[in-house]
Parts: sequence; C-alpha cells; structure tokens
Amino acid sequence: MRRKCEVSVIKGKKNEQMVQQAISMIGGMKSIVKKGDIVLIKPNICLPLPPEKGDATDPIVVASLVRLAKAAGASRVVVGESGGWGLYVRDHFEISKIGEYSEKAGAELSYFDEEERIELEIPNGILLKKVSIPKIVKEADVIINVPKMKNNFVSMVTLGIKNFMAFLAPDDRYGIHRGVNGVELAYVLVDLLKVIKPKLTVIDGILAMEGFGPHSGDLIRMGVIVAGKDVVAVDAVASEIMGYQAMEIPTTQIAAKQFLGVGDLSEIVVKGKKIEEVRKHFTRPIFNYISDHPNITTYFGGVCCGCIYRIPETETAIGIDPNKKYALVFGRKVNLPPKIDADEIWLVGDCTAPYRNKYKNTVFVSGCPPLKWYIHAVRLPHWSKKFGREIHTYPVDIEKQTREIIKARQRLSKK
Ligand code: SF4
Repeated sequence: MRRKCEVSVIKGKKNEQMVQQAISMIGGMKSIVKKGDIVLIKPNICLPLPPEKGDATDPIVVASLVRLAKAAGASRVVVGESGGWGLYVRDHFEISKIGEYSEKAGAELSYFDEEERIELEIPNGILLKKVSIPKIVKEADVIINVPKMKNNFVSMVTLGIKNFMAFLAPDDRYGIHRGVNGVELAYVLVDLLKVIKPKLTVIDGILAMEGFGPHSGDLIRMGVIVAGKDVVAVDAVASEIMGYQAMEIPTTQIAAKQFLGVGDLSEIVVKGKKIEEVRKHFTRPIFNYISDHPNITTYFGGVCCGCIYRIPETETAIGIDPNKKYALVFGRKVNLPPKIDADEIWLVGDCTAPYRNKYKNTVFVSGCPPLKWYIHAVRLPHWSKKFGREIHTYPVDIEKQTREIIKARQRLSKK
C-alpha cells in the first residue's frame, strides 16, 4: 500500500511561529536539510512591490526558513529569484524587503538573471526537452520552494509548481508565456518538475490574492501557511483551501497523472487545521474588461497573458483627450466591426499588425509583449528616437524610464 504523504496547514497571526509549526508537523527541518547542505530558497517576487501589496512572498516567511535551514546545519543558504517582464530582480529583492530580511537571517542572494546558467536535458519532457537554469539550482542539495497563494488568470492558481517559472531564462520565459493557454503552460511547468525537485514547499497564504491574479486581483487575508515535501500534494491542498477542486488545476492534474506527486486528497494526510476550517472560495480570475471612460472602446480576442495586463494600462499610457474617441485593439483573433467610430485606433502588440491597413487613424505599438513603455515611446517619437534602441533590450529599468518619460512630457507641454 502506498504511504500517504503529509501536508500541514497552520492558521495564525505570527508568521515566524506559523512557519516553524508547519515544518515541525511534517518532520522538522532536520528531516530535509542535512549538515553541510547547500540550500536554495525560491520565493515568488515577480514585481518590485512592497510587502503590503501582497504580491510577493512575505519576507518574514522567507527569513524564518533561512534561520531554520541554518539551524539544521546548512553550509550555505541562498535566496534566489529572477525578474519579470524585463525588470531588474535587484529592485524586487529591495522593494519587497526579501533581500534585507534574508541577508539579516544569514542568507546570500542570487539574482538569477545575472547568474551563470547551465543546460539540462529533460529526457521525458513533453513540451520541454531541455532547459537552461541558473547554476545554483543544480549546485543546491536542497531546494525550498516558497510561493505565494494567488490566483493566476492563465494557470488558475500560482502555487508551488507555477513558482518554477522563474528558473527559466528570461527569453524562454517570455516565449512560453506568450500565446500559450493554461494547459500548455502546465505541461511546461510539469516538465520542469522532472528535473527540479523541491524537497520542501511552503505556501505563504497569509495575505493571498483572489480575482484577477497574479498582480491585479484583490487581497484576501487568509492567515495560513501550507507546507509539505510533495509539491503536488501541497498545491492540491492549497487549491482546495482557495475553493477550487484540486484536480481542476492543470499543473496538479498533469503532474499527478505523470506520477510526479500525489494530487488525490484521499492519499494526503492533512495535519493541523482541516481544509474546511480555513477554506475561502476565491473569486475566479475571469477577465471581463469594460473601460471606465465613455470615449474608449476596447476590442480584444485571443489575447495571451503578455497583453492582458496591457489592456487597462494602455488607457493611462496613451493620454486620453476627453474630446476624442478611442478604440484599443489587442490579440491575435479580434472580432472587429467593418467600421470603427474612433479618432484614434490603437493596435497594441505584434498580434494586431495585420489590422494596420484595415482602418485609417491606426497607431501601431509593436512588441510581444508591448510593454507600457513602448506605448509611451510611440506617443513621444522624438523622445524614443533618442532612447528607442533601448526599449527592446533586456534588462530594462522601466521605473526609471517611465520617470524620464513623465519629465519629457512635462518639458514638452511647457513649449
Ligand atoms: S502580441 Fe500580445 S497577445 Fe500577441 S502573443 Fe504577444 S503578448 Fe500575446
């Protein structure tokens, strides 16, 4: 008979104590980290946002794990992450406070985007046959996976398996995010799980995100930590806590069917709180966008996650004149009417290039994804002439460039 795996669920208010209890219930850190081990801790810090925004893993949770790993005898504890969408991960570490808290607890930081990478074959990979990963991932004896409990509009949830996305090289990551649906993405992530095996997954469900996650949803105070040695089982329990059925989540189902972990709740022993005691039914990540501005009509279809975020932010980027009518178009398969009643038709993203000659008054913003900064560059062509060559390079300091754009606009409006 197969031995049941254990997942702990702790509810409370003291973050460090909750982490300690969660780990102790599944056998303690010494059952995971041996004397002299190199430990890599992988939080989720996708954007440079402060802890109160609830976007990244709680810094106290990460620091608690650093302390526990060191106390168990780890020779090195490294906290590593990469930046999303062309941003500097150094800013992520600083603004999320994970850098400061981790270093104070005795960890080193690893900026995956700057690290040496190695290639790994994935012999039984379905969509991914080989992968380039930061060298530290291979060097580590123990990987501790510390995701945040959030919805994700592509993969439904972002939990333990989804947290592996950051191990991919930036260009590979963008390529995979673009044009894929949740199931294809799940196959890629499960392929990664075949070569990157965390020995511990601790989900920070203290301040979680429901609705249109992973960045634009609503915060929901759950006050829970979910931990276990089998990432598939941890994801199964966490998604049930969020009001999903475990096997509804593509990554959980695909990983369980390939025998990479346990997704069936009847084979999981939940320790601490019962799922029903802490469950909240998260609002699902359904995208249904209608502009607040009466003079903007938005058309979208076949939009991948690279462009969905651009839809609300394009409105602020184009600089709306209340006396004009605008149409915004996104995606590769848009049902557009033969005539559009608009003074400016903004075609945003490479997918919309075929519509350029269909209407007059079109403004095309190239890019895949077309970052907000690219929209500014189109709006201020003389400015982008000066800096334009930089907009497609990586990494890009978006915040700095945006500040410069604002200054440039202010200067222009005075002329
Ligand atoms: S242009 Fe936008 S919708 Fe099209 S593939 Fe690129 S990111 Fe996705």
